[in-house]
Parts: sequence; structure tokens; C-alpha cells
Amino acid sequence: MPIPGSGLAKGLAVTLRTMTKRSHTAQYPDVQPELPPRSRGVIGLFEENCTVCMLCARECPDWCIYIDSHKETVPAVTPGGRERSRNVLDRFAIDFSLCMYCGICIEVCPFDALFWSPEFEYAETDIHELTHERDKLREWMWTVPAPPALDPRAEEPKEIGAARKAVEKAEAAASAAAAAAAAEAAAQAAENEPPTTPTPESDA
Ligand code: SF4
Ligand code: SF4
Repeated sequence: MPIPGSGLAKGLAVTLRTMTKRSHTAQYPDVQPELPPRSRGVIGLFEENCTVCMLCARECPDWCIYIDSHKETVPAVTPGGRERSRNVLDRFAIDFSLCMYCGICIEVCPFDALFWSPEFEYAETDIHELTHERDKLREWMWTVPAPPALDPRAEEPKEIGAARKAVEKAEAAASAAAAAAAAEAAAQAAENEPPTTPTPESDA
């Protein structure tokens, strides 16, 4: 059970601590702020990865992602094969006047087509200008920071482990096959060698 008045004492302690701290004034825009690398400024679109699956548009709680596409038929790659159809992107836009920067679209994209950029200076005087079309979303891609380096103590990803084991197995099989071939060639050479005829000195 809390002691009566303890909440008040805690609140006063916080107030006292804050009062004694020196205030720091950010000199923006003369000095650019040092933002954390994972800041949510704007969303960049890496169009090549987008398959127009519509997952991001469906999951966006604000319905502020607009996607248009059409289907195209891709001819069969092998004779007698089946034609395939694929989605072609016609429009991809995000209305940043509605976006609440929740990041759900980036999280749900299964093909890594959306990324956070820390850029935040895109205020507009006309609200319509805050709807960024695919070309502008693509430009934001070039401001996306590189992913942080992997933690050297992290567990090896299963896919890399499996790929490494497959390579090691293939290398072992190849060296075993090479050794067997060399042994067979040596045995063949020994078989084909003409028999040695005895010399008179050796008879004597
Ligand atoms: S960050 Fe959230 S609100 Fe903004 S576009 Fe993505 S899902 Fe929609
Ligand atoms: S979820 Fe990703 S791949 Fe699917 S439409 Fe959105 S950006 Fe494109």
C-alpha cells in the first residue's frame, strides 16, 4: 500500500531535478538537428521491389496510400509453357497530410519496398502538395540511411547457416570425387604399364 503523500514527494523530486538542469535551445534551422538514425521523417519507395500486393494500402489505418495498377501478360519462357500475368504499378502515392507515421505500411511490406528516411523538411503551404507521388517517394529513397552493421555477437541467421553447410557439403563431395578420379587414373596407368623383361645380367 503506498504511503500517503509519496506521490507528491516523487513529483516534487522530479520538479527539483528538472529545475536545476540547464536548458538547451536548438538553433534550428541554422544548425541541423542530429537525429537518431531510425527517425521517422518521410517514407521512401523502392519501386523495383513493389509487386503491387496492396498489403500496405489495406493495412494503413489512415487509408492514405493510393495504388493503381494494371495486369500484363508475360509470355511463357519455355516452349509449351503457360503465359503468366503480373501487376504493373501505375500510381503509388502517400498523403502525408493524413499519415500518422505509425510505420505499419513499412512493417507489413513483404518485399522491402518501403523505408523510413529521417528527412523531415517537406512542409508545404498547399495541403495537396503533401501527397507525394511515386517519383517523389523514389527520391526519398536516396536519403534512407544504410542499415546498421550486424551485431558480431548475434546468432547466425538460419538461411546463412544452411547456405554455408550446403557449400561445405558440395566442396567436400567435389574434393572426394577428385581424389577418387585421381586414384582411378593412377590404377589405370599402373595397369597399362608394359611388363619389365629380365636382362641377361639379372639372369646370371
Ligand atoms: S506510416 Fe501508417 S499512416 Fe502513414 S502511410 Fe504508413 S501505415 Fe499509413
Ligand atoms: S506492401 Fe510493399 S510490395 Fe505490397 S504494394 Fe505495398 S509497397 Fe508494394
